[in-house]
Amino acid sequence: MKYPTVTNFINGEYGAANGQLLDVYSPLNGDLISKVPLSSAEVVDQAVIAAQQAFPDWAKTPTKERVQVFYQYKYLLDKHLDELAALITEENGKTIEEAKAEIKKSIEVTEFACSLPQLTSGEVEQVSKGVECRSEYHPLGVVVSITPFNFPNMVPNWTIPNALALGNTMILKPSEQVPLSANRVADLLAEAGLPKGVFNVVHGSREAVEALCDHPGIKAITFVGSTKVAKIVYRRATANLKRALTLGGAKNHLIVLPDANEEMTASNVAASMSGCAGQRCMAASVMIAVGPVDGIIEKLCEEARKIIPGKNLGGIISKEAKERIEGYITEAEAQGAKILVDGRGVVVEGKENGYYVGPTVIDYVTPDMRIAREEVFGPVLSIIRVSSVDEAIEIENSSNYGNAAAVFTQSGGLARYVAERVSAGMIGVNIGVPVPREPFSFGGWNESKFGSGDITGKSSIEFWTKLKKTTTKWNPEAKTNWMS
Ligand code: NAD
Repeated sequence: MKYPTVTNFINGEYGAANGQLLDVYSPLNGDLISKVPLSSAEVVDQAVIAAQQAFPDWAKTPTKERVQVFYQYKYLLDKHLDELAALITEENGKTIEEAKAEIKKSIEVTEFACSLPQLTSGEVEQVSKGVECRSEYHPLGVVVSITPFNFPNMVPNWTIPNALALGNTMILKPSEQVPLSANRVADLLAEAGLPKGVFNVVHGSREAVEALCDHPGIKAITFVGSTKVAKIVYRRATANLKRALTLGGAKNHLIVLPDANEEMTASNVAASMSGCAGQRCMAASVMIAVGPVDGIIEKLCEEARKIIPGKNLGGIISKEAKERIEGYITEAEAQGAKILVDGRGVVVEGKENGYYVGPTVIDYVTPDMRIAREEVFGPVLSIIRVSSVDEAIEIENSSNYGNAAAVFTQSGGLARYVAERVSAGMIGVNIGVPVPREPFSFGGWNESKFGSGDITGKSSIEFWTKLKKTTTKWNPEAKTNWMS
């Protein structure tokens, strides 16, 4: 094993492994690289106690002082960019360039957190003669962030800088498939000067998550992962009277109109379906080809063929995930779809035990096929052919998900027509991966997100805080007791 067994990080210290251990394999070559503890409710309780003890002092620290830690943290993310990226690549399988891009997004979110003193100064107004109302943001207490495998550094950082800069203390429960990056985040936060107990990491899976949802000492939970688990966590956390925001899976549609710029569309669609080996919630999954767009499809296939597993295409998280993805392709083929580029059965020289699926483009998929409706989470693009824009919108609208949607066209009017009618939280016009950048917030619609508000940007301020409203009167001469 290249790395020692991962341990939990509680109250500024790494503790001994607790509970059953799970093997951690690198998707790059199938090597066993570490083991991770599947923590019990008892460990969750220890972490909650540490975070509760750290809360009063941290909450009292002025925001301007709290964010000093994050200026330092941003510097450390930058300083350790290469090392952090190498670790992400090893445990998640994505390419080094993709891993670096992920950390750069963590840096951007951290920069936003550093601006929070400017955004959370509260409000004050004289509401009637001699009477003043003021509102202030207050932290909630101990909060939790539960994260998926596909962005081991960025998704935890969607929540950590904002929640902590706003005065909360946190327990991170990272994906058991990528536990190593989470502990490096803990190291860097400690090095940046974060007091003990403000940030804790509890490793594990279902048992730990259920204990977090049930623990009475926890005030709020965010979750990012599959829709199936997002629903479970949302229901369980809110049933226990916690604030919850749970982000789920996706099935993103890219609507390509005949007047779209061929080159730009082909390269954007290819990058969107294959980036991070299709294992991102913003990936293009279905391209809806409106009318005659064969030139674009041809170029798209050319682009896809330039994407080589093990070179500019990373691995799939596990052997089971690889088999699941290949199963979707085989089923679509059996149902009559035409495979234009086939990524099944890929073996990378020197990495024969790695988990790879090559870029796959499938034409003549129909909306009723499983591959057209379910999240595939691999570098696979289904093309559905339609003859009108309205038909394309109808197909997009029929999806249970609603994370992202995009339209490719040269016509401003048509772009607007589509953007107004698609049912998704993040829309791209001639952009294949329409991730909003700070201070805009990230979050989908429909079964891609449960709870109100978004997870990053300005919208997250409301989630991580509660407002205190104080009404003050210093004019005894005013005889009225109310609305003076
Ligand atoms: P997952 O749902 O399997 O796991 C996410 C987290 O839930 C992990 O920490 C895991 O330990 C925990 N978990 C798993 N099963 C559980 C259970 N039965 N009860 C309680 N907790 C459980 O997701 P994943 O496979 O790690 O990540 C991929 C998914 O995440 C995809 O569906 C992808 O679309 C989604 N995702 C969504 C967004 C978004 O912003 N909407 C971003 C990234 C990933």
